Amino acid sequence: MIENYLINDFNISTKVQTAAKEALTRCKSKFEEIENITKQNQRHLLKAFIDNKVSESCFNMSTGYGYGDKGRDVLDKVCASAFFAEDAIIRHSFASGTHTISTALFAILRPGDTMLCISGTPYDTLLTVIDDNNKGKGSLADFGIKYKQIELTEKSDFNYSKISDTLKSKEKIKLVYIQRSRGYSSRKSLSLSKISKICNLVRELSPDSIIMVDNCYGEFTELREPPAIGADLIAGSLIKNAGGAIAPSGGYIAGKKQLIELCAYRTTTVSTGREIGASLGFNRQIYMGLFNAPHITGEALKTAAFAAALFSNLGFDVDPGVEESRSDIVQTIQLKSREQLIAFCQGIQSGSPVDSFVKPLPWSMPGYDCDVIMAAGTFTLGSSIELSADAPLREPYTVYVQGGWNFHSAEIALLLAADAVLNI
Ligand SMILES: *Cc1c(COP(=O)(O)O)cnc(C)c1O
Repeated sequence: MIENYLINDFNISTKVQTAAKEALTRCKSKFEEIENITKQNQRHLLKAFIDNKVSESCFNMSTGYGYGDKGRDVLDKVCASAFFAEDAIIRHSFASGTHTISTALFAILRPGDTMLCISGTPYDTLLTVIDDNNKGKGSLADFGIKYKQIELTEKSDFNYSKISDTLKSKEKIKLVYIQRSRGYSSRKSLSLSKISKICNLVRELSPDSIIMVDNCYGEFTELREPPAIGADLIAGSLIKNAGGAIAPSGGYIAGKKQLIELCAYRTTTVSTGREIGASLGFNRQIYMGLFNAPHITGEALKTAAFAAALFSNLGFDVDPGVEESRSDIVQTIQLKSREQLIAFCQGIQSGSPVDSFVKPLPWSMPGYDCDVIMAAGTFTLGSSIELSADAPLREPYTVYVQGGWNFHSAEIALLLAADAVLNI
């Protein structure tokens, strides 16, 4: 019986076991919904592989300049199909999501251009890319690229009137920027239906503006992707959803053909574009990861929904709620003290397949105004499609949980975290 197994091997209290049982019952219809999204997205990916004639020779490795790397070129096509885009560039050599997004921004913006972010403050690591306070490092601001920002409304929706006013004003907006995921903030993720609506408005008022979506954490959480509903360009990381927990590093940019061409020039050089870039044997893992990404994202969505159900059953506020629709894989849980945050992260770590015996401790991470604690027992360093949890150690004591590419394993880590929190 499952209960005995949990008691014997993982020492889960009966209280948490009971709450978990109820949580699973509560998740039943949500899981069916997630299963349906996974099913449709997986079929879409299979079709992308078939349509683009992926073959075993695509996995061959190239070295040096990487001229004529068929696997790399076909992979770009598969990636474009996967994201409903005209074209794409997907590379192991993008060092992170920030690097990928930054490459796209520098590829498209020119001195004197204005970038308008309409989803509030962008992800932390992008702030220095846009406007470094210590000028001279080569941020967009250093090149005379202007930046404007419009906050979301209190209900986490676009501020239509402010956006309209700005787009109607004299200043031309070269790039409208949207972050789909909540990232590490208290707002909600932006659904594709909201993004679609705002894309229509931007098209109407400023037809020449390029619409770019930071798609990190959002991939395959809904039935389509931003290029299908009006975005010109998207970018994301391969150690999150799109790499299917198999890609060892990298990122992708997908969108309009002309824009991807510019991104290719920036990725290598204007004279070489996408003609060079050795795949060094990483193609196979990226193909495998992208192929599995819908399934893996489904597991992460189930993990998030189960975490919401379990911790709300135990009396904690969670966001999003179990039944709420999701456009990213991030789940927040409001704990009640600093000690509970630490216990939670240590609990998650103790139920991870890698480094389970390590105790994460709070530390003063550069760029944060308070101590931060992180749990990640992952196969790929820093991968957040694998189960991970982070928390700044301050009120309102929110822990951010994401990933969990193997629900049945992530479930155990969450039970251990629940027990650790209740033992405080
Ligand atoms: C993770 C993330 C990024 C940046 O990716 P890194 O790999 O951490 O550099 C940007 N935007 C969002 C919404 C993210 O979740």
